Amino acid sequence: MSVSRRDFLRLAGAAGVANLAAAQAARASAAGPANPEWMGMLTDLTLCVGCRKCEWACRQANGLAGEEPIDAYDDPSVFANKRRTSGLSLTVVNRYGSDAAGEKPVHVKTQCMHCIEPACASACLVGAYRKSPQGPVIYDDSACIGCRYCLIACPFEMPAYTYDDPLTPVVRKCMMCVERIRDGASRPACAEMCPVEAITFGKRNALLTLARKKIAEHPDKYVDHIYGETEAGGTCWLYIAGKPFEELGFRTDVGTTPYPELTRGFLSSVPLIQTIWPALLMGAYAFTQRRETLARDSGASVAPPTENGSEKPESGRAVAVNRVAPSDDNPSLPSRSRPGRVQGRGSDQASQTRSESTPPEAES
Ligand code: SF4
Ligand code: SF4
Ligand code: SF4
Repeated sequence: MSVSRRDFLRLAGAAGVANLAAAQAARASAAGPANPEWMGMLTDLTLCVGCRKCEWACRQANGLAGEEPIDAYDDPSVFANKRRTSGLSLTVVNRYGSDAAGEKPVHVKTQCMHCIEPACASACLVGAYRKSPQGPVIYDDSACIGCRYCLIACPFEMPAYTYDDPLTPVVRKCMMCVERIRDGASRPACAEMCPVEAITFGKRNALLTLARKKIAEHPDKYVDHIYGETEAGGTCWLYIAGKPFEELGFRTDVGTTPYPELTRGFLSSVPLIQTIWPALLMGAYAFTQRRETLARDSGASVAPPTENGSEKPESGRAVAVNRVAPSDDNPSLPSRSRPGRVQGRGSDQASQTRSESTPPEAES
Protein backbone atom coordinates (compact mmCIF):
# COMPACT_ATOMS: atom_id res chain seq x y z
CA MET A 1 0.00 0.00 0.00
CA SER A 2 1.46 3.36 -0.95
CA VAL A 3 1.48 5.99 1.75
CA SER A 4 1.01 9.65 0.83
CA ARG A 5 2.75 12.44 2.69
CA ARG A 6 -0.52 13.24 4.40
CA ASP A 7 -0.99 9.63 5.47
CA PHE A 8 2.62 9.45 6.57
CA LEU A 9 1.97 12.36 8.92
CA ARG A 10 -1.15 10.67 10.20
CA LEU A 11 0.63 7.39 10.74
CA ALA A 12 3.73 8.97 12.19
CA GLY A 13 1.62 11.04 14.55
CA ALA A 14 -0.25 7.97 15.65
CA ALA A 15 3.01 6.04 15.87
CA GLY A 16 4.81 8.48 18.08
CA VAL A 17 1.98 8.95 20.43
CA ALA A 18 1.29 5.26 20.53
CA ASN A 19 4.87 4.73 21.65
CA LEU A 20 4.50 7.37 24.30
CA ALA A 21 1.24 5.90 25.44
CA ALA A 22 1.76 2.21 24.87
CA ALA A 23 -1.17 1.35 27.03
CA GLN A 24 -3.36 3.38 24.74
CA ALA A 25 -2.16 1.58 21.64
CA ALA A 26 -2.75 -1.70 23.34
CA ARG A 27 -6.26 -0.66 24.21
CA ALA A 28 -7.03 0.37 20.63
CA SER A 29 -5.63 -2.81 19.16
CA ALA A 30 -7.44 -4.81 21.78
CA ALA A 31 -10.60 -3.95 19.90
CA GLY A 32 -9.44 -6.63 17.44
CA PRO A 33 -11.74 -7.98 14.77
CA ALA A 34 -15.29 -6.75 14.65
CA ASN A 35 -17.39 -8.02 17.52
CA PRO A 36 -20.60 -9.56 16.13
CA GLU A 37 -22.53 -7.77 18.86
CA TRP A 38 -21.35 -4.32 17.84
CA MET A 39 -24.00 -1.97 16.63
CA GLY A 40 -23.62 0.06 13.48
CA MET A 41 -25.40 2.16 10.90
CA LEU A 42 -25.99 1.59 7.19
CA THR A 43 -26.63 4.65 5.04
CA ASP A 44 -28.22 3.91 1.68
CA LEU A 45 -27.19 6.85 -0.47
CA THR A 46 -29.68 5.90 -3.19
CA LEU A 47 -32.47 6.79 -0.76
CA CYS A 48 -31.15 10.00 0.76
CA VAL A 49 -32.96 13.08 -0.57
CA GLY A 50 -30.69 15.66 1.03
CA CYS A 51 -33.30 17.12 3.36
CA ARG A 52 -30.69 17.53 6.14
CA LYS A 53 -33.20 16.65 8.82
CA CYS A 54 -30.57 14.30 10.19
CA GLU A 55 -28.33 17.32 10.75
CA TRP A 56 -31.08 19.06 12.67
CA ALA A 57 -31.84 15.97 14.74
CA CYS A 58 -28.17 15.50 15.51
CA ARG A 59 -27.82 19.02 16.81
CA GLN A 60 -30.93 18.63 18.91
CA ALA A 61 -29.72 15.34 20.34
CA ASN A 62 -26.36 16.82 21.25
CA GLY A 63 -27.64 20.10 22.65
CA LEU A 64 -26.04 22.12 19.83
CA ALA A 65 -29.09 23.55 18.10
CA GLY A 66 -30.19 26.46 20.24
CA GLU A 67 -33.48 27.81 18.93
CA GLU A 68 -32.73 26.86 15.35
CA PRO A 69 -35.95 26.01 13.46
CA ILE A 70 -35.98 22.89 11.33
CA ASP A 71 -37.08 24.98 8.33
CA ALA A 72 -33.65 26.60 8.31
CA TYR A 73 -32.32 23.33 6.92
CA ASP A 74 -34.37 23.61 3.72
CA ASP A 75 -31.97 26.14 2.21
CA PRO A 76 -30.28 24.40 -0.77
CA SER A 77 -27.58 27.08 -1.06
CA VAL A 78 -25.69 25.19 1.65
CA PHE A 79 -24.73 22.61 -0.98
CA ALA A 80 -22.70 25.17 -2.94
CA ASN A 81 -19.62 24.28 -0.92
CA LYS A 82 -18.51 20.98 0.48
CA ARG A 83 -18.73 21.09 4.26
CA ARG A 84 -16.90 19.20 6.95
CA THR A 85 -18.04 18.22 10.39
CA SER A 86 -17.43 20.87 13.03
CA GLY A 87 -17.89 21.51 16.71
CA LEU A 88 -21.50 22.47 16.03
CA SER A 89 -22.24 19.97 13.25
CA LEU A 90 -21.30 16.41 14.14
CA THR A 91 -22.80 15.28 10.86
CA VAL A 92 -23.11 17.13 7.55
CA VAL A 93 -24.79 16.32 4.25
CA ASN A 94 -23.05 17.25 0.99
CA ARG A 95 -24.39 17.09 -2.55
CA TYR A 96 -22.52 15.54 -5.48
CA GLY A 97 -23.69 16.16 -9.05
CA SER A 98 -26.55 18.44 -10.01
CA ASP A 99 -29.81 18.43 -11.92
CA ALA A 100 -28.39 21.21 -14.08
CA ALA A 101 -25.65 18.90 -15.28
CA GLY A 102 -28.29 16.36 -16.28
CA GLU A 103 -27.47 13.91 -13.51
CA LYS A 104 -29.37 13.00 -10.40
CA PRO A 105 -27.52 14.49 -7.44
CA VAL A 106 -26.35 12.19 -4.69
CA HIS A 107 -26.45 13.38 -1.11
CA VAL A 108 -23.83 12.07 1.27
CA LYS A 109 -24.22 12.26 5.02
CA THR A 110 -20.88 12.11 6.81
CA GLN A 111 -19.91 11.69 10.45
CA CYS A 112 -17.44 9.61 12.46
CA MET A 113 -17.16 6.16 10.91
CA HIS A 114 -16.74 4.36 14.26
CA CYS A 115 -13.75 2.35 13.14
CA ILE A 116 -13.28 -1.20 14.35
CA GLU A 117 -9.73 -0.27 15.34
CA PRO A 118 -9.85 3.49 15.74
CA ALA A 119 -6.73 5.51 14.96
CA CYS A 120 -8.03 8.33 17.15
CA ALA A 121 -7.96 6.05 20.19
CA SER A 122 -4.45 4.80 19.49
CA ALA A 123 -3.24 8.38 19.01
CA CYS A 124 -4.77 9.77 22.17
CA LEU A 125 -2.18 10.29 24.89
CA VAL A 126 -4.58 10.16 27.78
CA GLY A 127 -7.17 7.58 26.79
CA ALA A 128 -9.91 10.09 26.05
CA TYR A 129 -11.18 7.82 23.25
CA ARG A 130 -12.31 4.26 23.56
CA LYS A 131 -14.35 1.69 21.70
CA SER A 132 -17.50 1.19 23.71
CA PRO A 133 -18.92 -2.30 24.26
CA GLN A 134 -21.83 -1.40 21.98
CA GLY A 135 -19.55 -0.46 19.06
CA PRO A 136 -19.48 3.36 18.97
CA VAL A 137 -16.11 5.03 19.44
CA ILE A 138 -16.67 7.45 22.29
CA TYR A 139 -14.73 10.41 23.59
CA ASP A 140 -14.47 11.80 27.11
CA ASP A 141 -13.68 15.49 27.08
CA SER A 142 -12.90 15.52 30.79
CA ALA A 143 -9.79 13.42 30.03
CA CYS A 144 -8.80 15.35 26.88
CA ILE A 145 -5.74 17.61 27.15
CA GLY A 146 -6.42 19.34 23.83
CA CYS A 147 -3.35 18.04 21.96
CA ARG A 148 -5.49 17.28 18.87
CA TYR A 149 -3.46 14.25 17.83
CA CYS A 150 -6.77 12.54 17.17
CA LEU A 151 -7.51 15.13 14.47
CA ILE A 152 -4.25 14.24 12.76
CA ALA A 153 -4.63 10.50 13.19
CA CYS A 154 -8.19 10.07 11.92
CA PRO A 155 -8.08 8.88 8.28
CA PHE A 156 -11.58 10.24 7.72
CA GLU A 157 -10.96 13.72 9.18
CA MET A 158 -13.92 13.50 11.49
CA PRO A 159 -13.03 14.85 14.94
CA ALA A 160 -13.50 18.63 15.09
CA TYR A 161 -12.07 21.12 17.53
CA THR A 162 -14.08 24.03 18.90
CA TYR A 163 -11.52 26.69 18.01
CA ASP A 164 -14.21 29.34 18.39
CA ASP A 165 -14.36 28.65 22.12
CA PRO A 166 -11.28 30.48 23.43
CA LEU A 167 -11.60 29.31 27.03
CA THR A 168 -12.64 25.70 27.01
CA PRO A 169 -12.22 24.28 23.51
CA VAL A 170 -13.03 20.60 23.15
CA VAL A 171 -12.94 17.90 20.52
CA ARG A 172 -16.32 16.88 19.22
CA LYS A 173 -17.47 14.04 17.01
CA CYS A 174 -20.44 11.77 16.50
CA MET A 175 -20.70 9.18 19.26
CA MET A 176 -23.51 7.27 17.57
CA CYS A 177 -25.85 8.66 20.21
CA VAL A 178 -24.40 6.08 22.59
CA GLU A 179 -26.51 7.22 25.49
CA ARG A 180 -29.66 6.59 23.48
CA ILE A 181 -28.62 3.14 22.28
CA ARG A 182 -26.79 1.90 25.39
CA ASP A 183 -29.80 0.18 26.91
CA GLY A 184 -31.42 -0.60 23.58
CA ALA A 185 -34.17 1.90 24.27
CA SER A 186 -33.77 4.05 21.22
CA ARG A 187 -32.17 4.53 17.85
CA PRO A 188 -29.66 7.28 17.12
CA ALA A 189 -31.42 10.58 16.51
CA CYS A 190 -30.46 10.86 12.83
CA ALA A 191 -31.74 7.38 12.02
CA GLU A 192 -34.95 8.07 13.88
CA MET A 193 -35.47 11.38 12.09
CA CYS A 194 -34.72 10.41 8.49
CA PRO A 195 -38.03 10.64 6.60
CA VAL A 196 -37.02 8.16 3.89
CA GLU A 197 -35.29 5.64 6.17
CA ALA A 198 -31.98 6.06 4.41
CA ILE A 199 -30.19 5.26 7.69
CA THR A 200 -30.59 1.83 9.23
CA PHE A 201 -29.43 1.09 12.76
CA GLY A 202 -28.63 -2.45 13.86
CA LYS A 203 -25.91 -4.97 14.53
CA ARG A 204 -23.01 -4.50 12.13
CA ASN A 205 -23.18 -8.08 10.95
CA ALA A 206 -26.89 -7.79 10.21
CA LEU A 207 -26.29 -4.53 8.36
CA LEU A 208 -23.65 -6.17 6.18
CA THR A 209 -26.12 -8.96 5.36
CA LEU A 210 -28.78 -6.39 4.51
CA ALA A 211 -26.39 -4.41 2.34
CA ARG A 212 -25.28 -7.52 0.43
CA LYS A 213 -28.91 -8.49 -0.10
CA LYS A 214 -29.81 -5.08 -1.50
CA ILE A 215 -26.84 -5.10 -3.85
CA ALA A 216 -27.55 -8.65 -5.03
CA GLU A 217 -31.23 -7.96 -5.64
CA HIS A 218 -30.66 -4.63 -7.41
CA PRO A 219 -27.35 -4.82 -9.25
CA ASP A 220 -28.55 -2.07 -11.59
CA LYS A 221 -29.15 0.28 -8.68
CA TYR A 222 -26.04 -0.23 -6.54
CA VAL A 223 -22.33 -0.48 -7.16
CA ASP A 224 -20.94 -3.72 -5.75
CA HIS A 225 -19.18 -2.16 -2.81
CA ILE A 226 -20.07 -1.74 0.85
CA TYR A 227 -18.01 1.19 2.02
CA GLY A 228 -16.76 0.54 5.54
CA GLU A 229 -16.76 -3.25 5.29
CA THR A 230 -12.99 -3.27 4.96
CA GLU A 231 -11.85 0.37 4.67
CA ALA A 232 -9.18 1.21 7.27
CA GLY A 233 -9.78 -2.23 8.76
CA GLY A 234 -13.55 -1.86 8.77
CA THR A 235 -15.96 0.58 10.34
CA CYS A 236 -19.28 0.34 12.13
CA TRP A 237 -20.83 2.99 9.89
CA LEU A 238 -21.43 1.47 6.45
CA TYR A 239 -22.61 2.86 3.12
CA ILE A 240 -24.07 1.58 -0.11
CA ALA A 241 -24.45 3.77 -3.18
CA GLY A 242 -25.38 3.88 -6.84
CA LYS A 243 -22.11 5.48 -7.88
CA PRO A 244 -18.47 4.63 -7.19
CA PHE A 245 -17.50 6.02 -3.81
CA GLU A 246 -14.52 7.93 -5.19
CA GLU A 247 -17.05 10.10 -7.08
CA LEU A 248 -18.90 10.85 -3.86
CA GLY A 249 -16.15 12.36 -1.77
CA PHE A 250 -15.18 9.15 0.05
CA ARG A 251 -11.56 8.35 0.69
CA THR A 252 -10.78 5.22 -1.24
CA ASP A 253 -7.06 5.28 -0.50
CA VAL A 254 -7.22 4.28 3.14
CA GLY A 255 -6.45 0.61 2.50
CA THR A 256 -7.88 -2.29 4.45
CA THR A 257 -5.40 -2.47 7.31
CA PRO A 258 -6.39 -0.82 10.60
CA TYR A 259 -4.35 2.33 11.11
CA PRO A 260 -3.10 1.25 14.57
CA GLU A 261 -1.83 -1.93 12.87
CA LEU A 262 0.14 0.15 10.37
CA THR A 263 1.50 2.14 13.26
CA ARG A 264 2.86 -0.96 14.97
CA GLY A 265 4.75 -1.99 11.82
CA PHE A 266 6.15 1.49 11.46
CA LEU A 267 7.41 1.48 15.03
CA SER A 268 9.13 -1.88 14.86
CA SER A 269 10.90 -1.03 11.60
CA VAL A 270 12.17 2.40 12.67
CA PRO A 271 13.60 2.04 16.17
CA LEU A 272 15.31 5.44 16.15
CA ILE A 273 12.08 7.25 15.51
CA GLN A 274 10.52 5.00 18.08
CA THR A 275 12.98 6.45 20.55
CA ILE A 276 12.90 10.13 19.70
CA TRP A 277 9.43 10.69 18.35
CA PRO A 278 7.63 11.10 21.67
CA ALA A 279 10.11 13.77 22.70
CA LEU A 280 9.58 15.60 19.41
CA LEU A 281 5.83 15.42 19.75
CA MET A 282 5.84 16.50 23.35
CA GLY A 283 8.06 19.41 22.37
CA ALA A 284 5.66 20.35 19.61
CA TYR A 285 2.77 20.05 22.02
CA ALA A 286 4.49 22.26 24.61
CA PHE A 287 5.31 24.79 21.90
CA THR A 288 1.70 24.86 20.72
CA GLN A 289 0.41 25.31 24.24
CA ARG A 290 2.92 28.06 24.90
CA ARG A 291 2.03 29.87 21.68
CA GLU A 292 -1.69 29.68 22.45
CA THR A 293 -1.14 30.96 25.96
CA LEU A 294 0.90 33.90 24.69
CA ALA A 295 -1.68 34.68 22.01
CA ARG A 296 -4.46 34.58 24.57
CA ASP A 297 -2.59 36.73 27.03
CA SER A 298 -1.65 39.35 24.46
CA GLY A 299 -5.20 39.40 23.11
CA ALA A 300 -6.59 40.08 26.59
CA SER A 301 -3.81 42.55 27.48
CA VAL A 302 -3.50 40.88 30.82
CA ALA A 303 -0.63 41.70 33.14
CA PRO A 304 0.62 39.48 35.94
CA PRO A 305 -1.67 39.39 38.94
CA THR A 306 -1.05 41.72 41.82
CA GLU A 307 -0.99 40.56 45.37
CA ASN A 308 -4.67 41.20 45.91
CA GLY A 309 -5.56 39.04 42.91
CA SER A 310 -6.61 41.76 40.47
CA GLU A 311 -4.69 42.22 37.24
CA LYS A 312 -2.96 45.47 36.66
CA PRO A 313 -1.78 46.32 33.14
CA GLU A 314 0.97 48.77 32.49
CA SER A 315 -1.51 51.62 32.14
CA GLY A 316 -2.37 51.07 35.79
CA ARG A 317 -6.06 50.33 35.08
CA ALA A 318 -7.25 47.05 36.57
CA VAL A 319 -8.91 44.71 34.03
CA ALA A 320 -10.97 41.59 34.40
CA VAL A 321 -9.26 38.29 33.76
CA ASN A 322 -10.82 35.34 31.99
CA ARG A 323 -11.00 33.01 34.90
CA VAL A 324 -12.02 29.42 34.28
CA ALA A 325 -14.95 28.38 36.36
CA PRO A 326 -14.66 25.02 38.09
CA SER A 327 -16.77 22.21 36.77
CA ASP A 328 -19.55 20.67 38.79
CA ASP A 329 -17.87 17.27 38.71
CA ASN A 330 -14.45 18.36 39.77
CA PRO A 331 -13.88 21.77 41.24
CA SER A 332 -10.27 21.70 40.11
CA LEU A 333 -11.10 21.12 36.47
CA PRO A 334 -12.31 23.67 33.94
CA SER A 335 -16.01 23.62 33.29
CA ARG A 336 -16.76 22.51 29.74
CA SER A 337 -19.57 21.78 27.45
CA ARG A 338 -19.48 18.00 27.60
CA PRO A 339 -20.90 16.34 24.51
CA GLY A 340 -21.54 13.11 26.34
CA ARG A 341 -23.60 14.67 29.03
CA VAL A 342 -25.30 17.20 26.83
CA GLN A 343 -26.07 14.46 24.36
CA GLY A 344 -28.11 12.64 26.95
CA ARG A 345 -30.09 15.71 27.78
CA GLY A 346 -30.63 16.59 24.14
CA SER A 347 -31.55 13.05 23.29
CA ASP A 348 -34.64 13.45 25.32
CA GLN A 349 -35.55 16.53 23.33
CA ALA A 350 -34.99 14.86 20.01
CA SER A 351 -36.82 11.74 21.00
CA GLN A 352 -39.88 13.89 21.54
CA THR A 353 -39.76 14.94 17.93
CA ARG A 354 -40.50 11.48 16.66
CA SER A 355 -42.67 8.61 17.60
CA GLU A 356 -41.37 6.06 20.09
CA SER A 357 -38.19 4.27 19.30
CA THR A 358 -37.45 0.99 17.64
CA PRO A 359 -35.26 -1.61 19.33
CA PRO A 360 -31.69 -1.70 18.04
CA GLU A 361 -32.05 -5.04 16.30
CA ALA A 362 -34.76 -3.62 14.09
CA GLU A 363 -34.08 -2.08 10.74
CA SER A 364 -35.24 1.43 9.97
S1 SF4 B 1 -13.54 7.89 11.88
FE1 SF4 B 1 -11.82 8.93 12.89
S2 SF4 B 1 -12.72 9.73 14.79
FE2 SF4 B 1 -14.12 8.17 14.03
S3 SF4 B 1 -13.46 6.24 15.04
FE3 SF4 B 1 -12.40 6.33 13.06
S4 SF4 B 1 -10.42 7.29 13.55
FE4 SF4 B 1 -11.79 7.72 15.26
S1 SF4 C 1 -25.56 8.97 15.51
FE1 SF4 C 1 -26.19 10.70 16.84
S2 SF4 C 1 -24.32 11.92 17.05
FE2 SF4 C 1 -23.99 10.55 15.29
S3 SF4 C 1 -24.64 11.71 13.47
FE3 SF4 C 1 -26.42 10.54 14.17
S4 SF4 C 1 -27.53 11.94 15.55
FE4 SF4 C 1 -25.46 12.76 15.30
S1 SF4 D 1 -32.54 12.89 6.96
FE1 SF4 D 1 -32.24 11.10 5.64
S2 SF4 D 1 -32.87 11.79 3.60
FE2 SF4 D 1 -32.58 13.62 4.83
S3 SF4 D 1 -30.45 14.22 4.41
FE3 SF4 D 1 -30.39 12.95 6.25
S4 SF4 D 1 -30.01 10.87 5.52
FE4 SF4 D 1 -30.65 12.11 3.74
